Amino acid sequence: MTRDARYDVLFEPVTIGPKVAKNRFYQVPHCNGMGYRDVSAGAEMRRVKAEGGWGVVCTEQIEVHPTSDITPYVELRLWHDDDIPALARIADKIHEGGALAGAELAHNGANSPNLYSRMPPIGPAHMPVITFTPEQQQARRAGKKDIADLRRWHRDAAIRAKRAGYDIVYVYAAHGLGFIHYFLSREYNDRNDEYGGSLENRCRILREVLEDTKDAVGADCAIACRVSMDELRGKAGFEREEMEEIISLVAEIPDLWDVTISGWHNDSRTSRFAEEGHEEPYIANVKKLTTKPVVGVGRYTSPDRMVSLVQKGVLDFIGAARPSIADPFLPKKIEEGRLEDIRECIGCNICVSGDITSSPIKCTQNPAMGEEWRRGWHPERHRAAGSDKSVLVVGAGPAGLEATQTLGKRGYSVILAEAGTELGGRVVRESKLPGLSAWIRVRDWREQQIRQMTNVEIYFDSALDADSILEFGFPRVAFATGSRWRDDGVGRGSRAPMEVTDGGRVVGVEALLRGELPSRDEVKSVVVWDSDHYYMGGVLAELLAEAGFSVTYVTSETSASVWMRNTLEHAFVQASLLNKGVEIRAGLSLVSLAGGAVKFACVYTGREHVLEADALVPVTMRLPEDAVYRALLERRGEWADKGVEDVVVIGDAFAPGTIAHAVHAGRLYGEDMDAAPLSEGELPFRMERAALTSA
Ligand code: ADP
Ligand code: SF4
Repeated sequence: MTRDARYDVLFEPVTIGPKVAKNRFYQVPHCNGMGYRDVSAGAEMRRVKAEGGWGVVCTEQIEVHPTSDITPYVELRLWHDDDIPALARIADKIHEGGALAGAELAHNGANSPNLYSRMPPIGPAHMPVITFTPEQQQARRAGKKDIADLRRWHRDAAIRAKRAGYDIVYVYAAHGLGFIHYFLSREYNDRNDEYGGSLENRCRILREVLEDTKDAVGADCAIACRVSMDELRGKAGFEREEMEEIISLVAEIPDLWDVTISGWHNDSRTSRFAEEGHEEPYIANVKKLTTKPVVGVGRYTSPDRMVSLVQKGVLDFIGAARPSIADPFLPKKIEEGRLEDIRECIGCNICVSGDITSSPIKCTQNPAMGEEWRRGWHPERHRAAGSDKSVLVVGAGPAGLEATQTLGKRGYSVILAEAGTELGGRVVRESKLPGLSAWIRVRDWREQQIRQMTNVEIYFDSALDADSILEFGFPRVAFATGSRWRDDGVGRGSRAPMEVTDGGRVVGVEALLRGELPSRDEVKSVVVWDSDHYYMGGVLAELLAEAGFSVTYVTSETSASVWMRNTLEHAFVQASLLNKGVEIRAGLSLVSLAGGAVKFACVYTGREHVLEADALVPVTMRLPEDAVYRALLERRGEWADKGVEDVVVIGDAFAPGTIAHAVHAGRLYGEDMDAAPLSEGELPFRMERAALTSA
């Protein structure tokens, strides 16, 4: 197949200073929780993106100096010449894949607590360090020498990036992160020297660092400048007009403008809180301010939308972080006219959670993300089948679907049996909840892949039991039968079922997921008790509030859905609940339900609080749906006669977790089928190990 001519414009080469990108697909810098600790894994992840057709592939943030240390987050470092080999490995891998390599140099300034280096942070003014936690080392006001040092450090890092083989070197002034951003800011920069006051003065450090970088490496490398057009804080922060003025002051110095919005939570908004292309109003004018090419993002997965952005003169490059994570082969698929094969990002930010938890990146849609090097997984290629033994997959949720599509692509004969009448399992139910409609893409992509396979058969209305499975006699059986929410209050912090007396009414999560809301005649007020702390408690509170119930959301934590700090959604969740009239009560732990009285205890003092409500929704934990699996294990003695050899349980039916966990479990099952068993003590994945220096 060849591409549709209307997408030709996306494959035009674009000049960036001394370099030429082969097309308009630009993987903008994105963090991944691997950084300096997992260099080989990061390098292979970037190589796969380049192989997938991106014209430019960038690194994540690279700290230019130990005063720019954002420990505990694991980014890249170019503190010293000894760091060049690690960075060179990444550049080499990007080149091997056929893309230009971009290095996002950053001095994190007042954003870096320097927990590793223990050097005092530096800012435009004396100010608290601004990071995800309230660190207690303040940033000190930079003097003239500090500014000179900073310029030298950045310049040295640019030379190192060039030596490491990078084509594009960044000056990073975006996302409310870093030295330069705070100097640009009216809010933080209260200086009265030539670096403060007027816009021209606040912009001086940006101009100087851009000129230094250009002078140091500009003959060989393109210089990119990354800024945020708006902080979405009204007059309190940057607004578009001011940033447009700043760009105008230095418009022609860099070779490329990379434009975003700030902070990171606004830039990487989830699908629950922003549509594809939500940044367009903020970046639409930038091309009028400069003759240099412009790249911007917006979770773009539709090629028609991409073409229109270029044709309207909004962007020269289609920037992508998440769409390139969910589908590293997005450009190739457009080029080859395979649009239906594009694995569209669902906008859940599980990828971001890797960086925030300092663990390797993972993706709900692309289980190979982060596993390219350590497990040798590829987002598009699979090993050929290791035998001709057929496989029965029981359950068509994300785990069963991913196992089926992986096995199908490997060439195995697969029967997928589903108790219900449609594919998707939990994804079908959850995508009907407020704000989660894009999550159905997890099902849609897999269904689209599986439907094309002649070696896969799907049976609906097939709630299998041990008898029927033994009757079929498939050599391999995988149970992907999912999980169910408990409704007895057992979960985090509460190992005994709650006491329910006097006809207290419990509405279970499962009932709500089936769309069974309580009768409005009988129930007016509801307490949602959340000890799960991810999205379910919050979205069910929203669902009930939207349906007209009076809702109180109670958590033992300090605020609603605390785990969602890891997906950058936490503040949006609070606002959304409050805007929908949900009352949030924090720091309380469920004790009992007696008639219309829900008793809680303060987690700090133990003092009792009673909330009046007609019903209680406990959102606590799930239990595996593995009864049929266990029944089959009981009958192991009958397997051989029936031709059954291997029976496993995967996904939520094994250990309930995120959808990303279930998809990963499906891939692992499919991938490991007929693999050589691990030898004693062998790890199931590779690890980067530091070479010890001489003692
Ligand atoms: P996971 O997240 O692990 O993929 P889900 O809960 O999304 O799990 O999906 C489990 C699927 O398994 C559901 O669609 C459910 O209907 C199906 N299922 C459960 N038990 C059986 C069974 N005994 N036979 C066939 N399908 C089953
Ligand atoms: Fe998109 Fe979610 Fe994958 Fe991130 S984890 S790339 S948001 S699907």
